Amino acid sequence: MASELEPEVQAIDRSLLECSAEEIAGKWLQATDLTREVYQHLAHYVPKIYCRGPNPFPQKEDMLAHHVLLGPMEWYLCGEDPAFGFPKLEQANKPSHLCGRVFKVGEPTYSCRDCAVDPTCVLCMECFLGSIHRDHRYRMTTSGGGGFCDCGDTEAWKEGPYCQKHELNTSEIEEEEDPLVHLSEDVIARTYNIFAIMFRYAVEILTWEKESELPADLEMVEKSDTYYCMLFNDEVHTYEQVIYTLQKAVNCTQKEAIGFATTVDRDGRRSVRYGDFQYCEQAKSVIVRNTSRQTKPLKVQVMHSSIVAHQNFGLKLLSWLGSIIGYSDGLRRILCQVGLQEGPDGENSSLVDRLMLSDSKLWKGARSVYHQLFMSSLLMDLKYKKLFAVRFAKNYERLQSDYVTDDHDREFSVADLSVQIFTVPSLARMLITEENLMSIIIKTFMDHLRHRDAQGRFQFERYTALQAFKFRRVQSLILDLKYVLISKPTEWSDELRQKFLEGFDAFLELLKCMQGMDPITRQVGQHIEMEPEWEAAFTLQMKLTHVISMMQDWCASDEKVLIEAYKKCLAVLMQCHGGYTDGEQPITLSICGHSVETIRYCVSQEKVSIHLPVSRLLAGLHVLLSKSEVAYKFPELLPLSELSPPMLIEHPLRCLVLCAQVHAGMWRRNGFSLVNQIYYYHNVKCRREMFDKDVVMLQTGVSMMDPNHFLMIMLSRFELYQIFSTPDYGKRFSSEITHKDVVQQNNTLIEEMLYLIIMLVGERFSPGVGQVNATDEIKREIIHQLSIKPMAHSELVKSLPEDENKETGMESVIEAVAHFKKPGLTGRGMYELKPECAKEFNLYFYHFSRAEQSKAEEAQRKLKRQNREDTALPPPVLPPFCPLFASLVNILQSDVMLCIMGTILQWAVEHNGYAWSESMLQRVLHLIGMALQEEKQHLENVTEEHVVTFTFTQKISKPGEAPKNSPSILAMLETLQNAPYLEVHKDMIRWILKTFNAVKKMRESSPTSPVAETEGTIMEESSRDKDKAERKRKAEIARLRREKIMAQMSEMQRHFIDENKELFQQTLELDASTSAVLDNSPVVSDITLTALGPTQTQVPEQRQFVTCILCQEEQEVKVESRAMVLAAFVQRSTVLSKNRSKFIQDPEKYDPLFMHPDLSCGTHTSSCGHIMHAHCWQRYFDSVQAKEQRRQQRLRLHTSYDVENGEFLCPLCECLSNTVIPLLLPPRNIFNKLNFSDQPNLTQWIKTISQQIKALQFLRKEESTPNNASTKNSENVDELQLPEGFRPDFRPKNPYSESIKEMLTTFGTATYKVGLKVHPNEEDPRVPIMCWGSCAYTIQSIERILSDEDKPLFGPLPCRLDDCLRSLTRFAAAHWTVASLSVVQGHFCKLFASLVPNDSHEELPCILDIDMFHLLVGLVLAFPALQCQDFSGISLGTGDLHIFHLVTMAHIIQILLTSCTEENGMDQENPTCEEESAVLALYKTLHQYMGSALKEIPSGWHLWRSVRAGIMPFLKCSALFFHYLNGVPSPPDIQVPGTSHFEHLCNYLSLPNNLICLFQENSEIMNSLIESWCHNSEVKRYLEGERDAIRYPRESNKLINLPEDYSSLINQASNFSCPKSGGDKSRAPTLCLVCGSLLCSQSYCCQTELEGEDVGACTAHTYSCGSGVGIFLRVRECQVLFLAGKTKGCFYSPPYLDDYGETDQGLRRGNPLHLCKERFKKIQKLWHQHSVTEEIGHAQEANQTLVGIDWQHL
Ligand SMILES: [Zn+2]
Ligand SMILES: [Zn+2]
Ligand SMILES: [Zn+2]
Ligand SMILES: [Zn+2]
Ligand SMILES: [Zn+2]
Ligand SMILES: [Zn+2]
Ligand SMILES: [Zn+2]
Repeated sequence: MASELEPEVQAIDRSLLECSAEEIAGKWLQATDLTREVYQHLAHYVPKIYCRGPNPFPQKEDMLAHHVLLGPMEWYLCGEDPAFGFPKLEQANKPSHLCGRVFKVGEPTYSCRDCAVDPTCVLCMECFLGSIHRDHRYRMTTSGGGGFCDCGDTEAWKEGPYCQKHELNTSEIEEEEDPLVHLSEDVIARTYNIFAIMFRYAVEILTWEKESELPADLEMVEKSDTYYCMLFNDEVHTYEQVIYTLQKAVNCTQKEAIGFATTVDRDGRRSVRYGDFQYCEQAKSVIVRNTSRQTKPLKVQVMHSSIVAHQNFGLKLLSWLGSIIGYSDGLRRILCQVGLQEGPDGENSSLVDRLMLSDSKLWKGARSVYHQLFMSSLLMDLKYKKLFAVRFAKNYERLQSDYVTDDHDREFSVADLSVQIFTVPSLARMLITEENLMSIIIKTFMDHLRHRDAQGRFQFERYTALQAFKFRRVQSLILDLKYVLISKPTEWSDELRQKFLEGFDAFLELLKCMQGMDPITRQVGQHIEMEPEWEAAFTLQMKLTHVISMMQDWCASDEKVLIEAYKKCLAVLMQCHGGYTDGEQPITLSICGHSVETIRYCVSQEKVSIHLPVSRLLAGLHVLLSKSEVAYKFPELLPLSELSPPMLIEHPLRCLVLCAQVHAGMWRRNGFSLVNQIYYYHNVKCRREMFDKDVVMLQTGVSMMDPNHFLMIMLSRFELYQIFSTPDYGKRFSSEITHKDVVQQNNTLIEEMLYLIIMLVGERFSPGVGQVNATDEIKREIIHQLSIKPMAHSELVKSLPEDENKETGMESVIEAVAHFKKPGLTGRGMYELKPECAKEFNLYFYHFSRAEQSKAEEAQRKLKRQNREDTALPPPVLPPFCPLFASLVNILQSDVMLCIMGTILQWAVEHNGYAWSESMLQRVLHLIGMALQEEKQHLENVTEEHVVTFTFTQKISKPGEAPKNSPSILAMLETLQNAPYLEVHKDMIRWILKTFNAVKKMRESSPTSPVAETEGTIMEESSRDKDKAERKRKAEIARLRREKIMAQMSEMQRHFIDENKELFQQTLELDASTSAVLDNSPVVSDITLTALGPTQTQVPEQRQFVTCILCQEEQEVKVESRAMVLAAFVQRSTVLSKNRSKFIQDPEKYDPLFMHPDLSCGTHTSSCGHIMHAHCWQRYFDSVQAKEQRRQQRLRLHTSYDVENGEFLCPLCECLSNTVIPLLLPPRNIFNKLNFSDQPNLTQWIKTISQQIKALQFLRKEESTPNNASTKNSENVDELQLPEGFRPDFRPKNPYSESIKEMLTTFGTATYKVGLKVHPNEEDPRVPIMCWGSCAYTIQSIERILSDEDKPLFGPLPCRLDDCLRSLTRFAAAHWTVASLSVVQGHFCKLFASLVPNDSHEELPCILDIDMFHLLVGLVLAFPALQCQDFSGISLGTGDLHIFHLVTMAHIIQILLTSCTEENGMDQENPTCEEESAVLALYKTLHQYMGSALKEIPSGWHLWRSVRAGIMPFLKCSALFFHYLNGVPSPPDIQVPGTSHFEHLCNYLSLPNNLICLFQENSEIMNSLIESWCHNSEVKRYLEGERDAIRYPRESNKLINLPEDYSSLINQASNFSCPKSGGDKSRAPTLCLVCGSLLCSQSYCCQTELEGEDVGACTAHTYSCGSGVGIFLRVRECQVLFLAGKTKGCFYSPPYLDDYGETDQGLRRGNPLHLCKERFKKIQKLWHQHSVTEEIGHAQEANQTLVGIDWQHL
């Protein structure tokens, strides 16, 4: 169908392109009714341009629209060619000093923690880098899209509002100059006309709701019959549901469905079918039917194509307007004017109003387009911003209600603009006073929470899903309230006061609905049946926490407001609890001659609620009053007389008692909901406006009451009154064992009550309660946190309450109280408490949880012991109370308190076991200590005219009163001092008695003579000395005892070892791996060591014993014994690759015989070095396999290893493995026929070998053509002269045991299977090649690591590496014995032919394209297959040596050909040393063969330097290879680090130090060989510059360079758009650290198919870039990602740290991050070592949840 249409469409397009914008504009300029004219134009052309088929063509549409529709408007507006008009406008414009850049999703934004007025003030990266804030404490976040840069907004910044760029524009700002003065009258008039028409058109069409009818003035004469079935986005259905439904409804492929769904999700709608009405309607009904089962159906509309066309153009138009106003502030002002002009229908009829009010009806794409326009117009214009703010506030209620019932996320709602408006202080202030915004917000909020209980309180209990959904959305209103309040007024006007207090009233109404909500009753007998809903109430509380705090801050800034607010709050509290006694019986309590009236109320029997926001707000205001001047000067102005202290304390006290009872286990049957509530009540997120304020309220109460009365009420509420009012109560209990539970409960309650008293007296660090400032408060919090343990910055931040600006205030004080300890290679930086701060430690700090308290106690005691101090933890010296709270201290010396203390001490003295506890005593001691500290301070600060009324010391010296004359508290303490059962508290009691004496002395002496005190200290001193001596003696005794025990222990250990020898051996194994057994340096005297050749150093045969880790049996490694194997892991590798674009395309056809020097596609083998019997391993592996199969069937669980691929974990160290390597003796020794006499030289040897090869090839040809008449055969045989002593029919006997042979095959096959990624086939001729290749590659990669780290070649290698290389080399050397002899011979022939050409191989690579080390390994290891048939007396060693020399020479030629010669013979013309002249001569020979193609002859010095440097890696690899192959120990010189070991290496490898001598010695054959190499056409092409070649030495691969500052990465990523979905921002941009590619990860759009499965961009990338292994940085998460294969992955800590030495995975904290080079090196090392897969395995074993992640979708 499409093809038929095409010519017609093209014809239309042509006619459209013929339109002239200038002519049309000219017509419009003449028009009398411009609107009609323009509308007609649109009605005619829009449907011709847009929506002409099933799929949109954005580029073409844009192009045509610009030509036909927008072009004329621009002409009209400018009155000339816009190409000249707009630049003119731009020039005349005075650029704005506001940046206003609208943020893209994922773009980095910066906020200054020092200067931003609130955290919503942000800068774009460019402005930030040019601002003063880059040197301040800043925070970095990634934008969620929307919002704009606040640079230039003076209200947003306390300092530095402009960046350098925008500062330039400020010099000329005059008082709100009208931007229209820069425009001519004409332009203004025309702009106004065209803007008015176009804006109205856009609004009209976008808000148009009819589906097949256009607005009358746009209706066409001839209307086509084409419709769209339009699918809209909602937040209910998932991607998968939509995709599934679409496939069914419109019969499309999954790919198309994904495309539709992605667009719907992004733009909010997409047509899924195009055709006549019926056709579309049918699709609609299928979609609706399919999606309506559980939820509301997807929204679908069948719309006429012309409507869709106009709407598309409408959107285009809005963006166009946005870009046009960018030319000039004047144009922008006109647009604002047009937008806000009231329409004909009065109120709410302006275009802006109309758009806002239909926001929730618009689709996502339309919303974001007009929101953007608002941001770049209304919000950028100072005058209209205000007018718009008013419109927004007037419509606030409607907009919010629309938002609450809509289902789109907040960022897609116009309601979200509140943050842009309300956070501007001047606007917020204006809206409060003029529009009563505070009240509006609060009332709107309340309107949406209509569900109340009988008392009018909120009730969340039986919320339906819909109500819960609404509740979640309505919470954003609280955020609005927060924005409005975020900047506190510096000046108050009367109107502001009035409106604020009105708002405060509304707020109190809100709190009133919360006071007492969710009441609970203790469950007795049965456990509750259903956990009650509690989260909603706490969510509300949590969201309101900052608002409540800010309300108080506002009140605090104006005394009049504060007093009014206080009165209002009190009144509301009275309304809530005024009749608190109603219905409840008054009772009288009396102790020690004091009595008080209260009500009968038991927390354990009646209703109680945790939610008391009104009481708590009052407590907060009370503290503020206490801080204010009024409290000192005019206390009569305060409504204190109206307060009824018992009423104030009642509910907070109940709540605290509830906590105590829960702790005592009395509420167990109420389930977890209660436990959770109590947890949050104390939690750092809530406590500031919950627990803390309850303590303040009690403090307020006590300070206004007789403390005796208070204590009695408290006893009664704790349900402990009976115990303390009845003498001998405790004693009575001791006999009644049946009540053990009750006793336990009461003990806990007493402890809790004492704790509460300690808090009431001790917690005076809130400004207003005590005479402290905010800094003291935060310091104290930090000191107590760090008393538990040293903490990282983020841990500390988490434990401190954040204010509304997300600040804890920690940075300003942390230096004063803590030392910072930097992090190492792992871990985090830590803060440690300064020792001098320890004295401020309070064991009963009220924000400690119980666990923290005991940890802190332990830590502090330990510290004291370390410092050899006594371990008492006395209460710290406290700051004085503020006057309003001053009388609170009397509680310590009140009669009831003394009675309680006395009673408990009495119990302790009598020590009867049940009725008291040590913690109870500890608390009493603490309280006594506090009282003494208090008295001491009073005495120290006493002035002449005052008498110290705090007489605690006197009171505790008096004996108890009748009826029973108990001893005084002091006397009892003295008794307890010696009680043997109170050892732990001895130090504390001693401290109390000492302090008591000191205070007594102070009191006796006059306050002016401090003599007495000196005496006291002397006494103290001497007692301390005594203490010390005693302690020392005890320590000595302890030491002796310890030693004795140790001696006994080690004796026992010896026995144990004798008895469990095997076990012990195993641990030794663990410690030392196997190298301990294989002695590496057998006794070889000082002779020069030679690793190969006829003069190879003979090493005395070593017997090698190893132990199997599975059966613990020991065994000798021998040729004929059972095989021993090492667990090993084979993987493909691109770590050394110099060409990442190359990978194996078709593994079945790939020929690995020659490794290209770019080293792409290697096979790496590693091992953990753990040894097993082959049969033990076999059994183990079978059982793992069986177990996994069972498990997978049952649970469908993944494991960290893939059994089906042969993977398993090493049974000892859990290292990931996929095969085993057999352990072998040096294989050369088995085959070497020891006949060294009369060996051929290189030339002769090459000749002999060539003859043998020729013979073999001849025979091979014969075999392969058996059909050719047998007659020929004999002829040919005659023709063939077998070289002397060569017996091609000889088949050597395999010396190895069956079991070893089997393992040789096993490992060989595994290498083949993994290396080529093919099905295992042990017969494949490529198996031996893969084995040699893996050996060569692994050696090369280890040589690289050692060189990169400047480590000596034969230095102490880790055991596992040493073992691995040895086994791997020997295995590769032995593998030919299990392969087909002719296959190996064939490989040898081909490899040999690459250097020594013969006639039968033509297609061989040239020497530039061969990695010489791979060639060497292949030749040496294949050679025995040929040599075993040679009986002419040439030894294997001779062959090795000649092969090595030959390859070395080839490599030298390779290096000379590719050496780049920038420095031309400048240095020295005449070579000075032998090497230089030799290499120069060689180069001249080359020149002879190559002619002018070879570069000019450089200096000999330069050439020799290139050769030496280029050949080093090869020599090092060769040394490793021959060392492991032949077992010749390495020369000691190479074992130590040093610059170069060139000479030593040459000696060890049997090479002349002057390598060029090799050529001279063998010039006879070499000249012809060199000539043949040079005549290769590829070499010529290279020299002529037609192709490239690898140069030597190859540089090591490194991970990419990362920027120092993390934000530049974020910025880079935010500019990255998905490569597949046309310019869309990628959601999870991910950086490949190997090659630097940015990928669009974890997203449908970039999934590709890999081996029949859909995989994400990262997984797909690993296949080309890292042959399955990948190292990535997830930029948005700041997280390193390791991937291996399709199923494995883990996250790894990123190499970026903040200033506190911490990483920020997920970028949650937003501290600036900087590159940590050491950590990045560590990641690089993992990569170089091929340990990424192993690391993933370990991570997955440690954290099973990682196994479940679908890594392939990343
Ligand atoms: Zn900016
Ligand atoms: Zn700026
Ligand atoms: Zn700043
Ligand atoms: Zn075993
Ligand atoms: Zn292991
Ligand atoms: Zn993508
Ligand atoms: Zn890559």
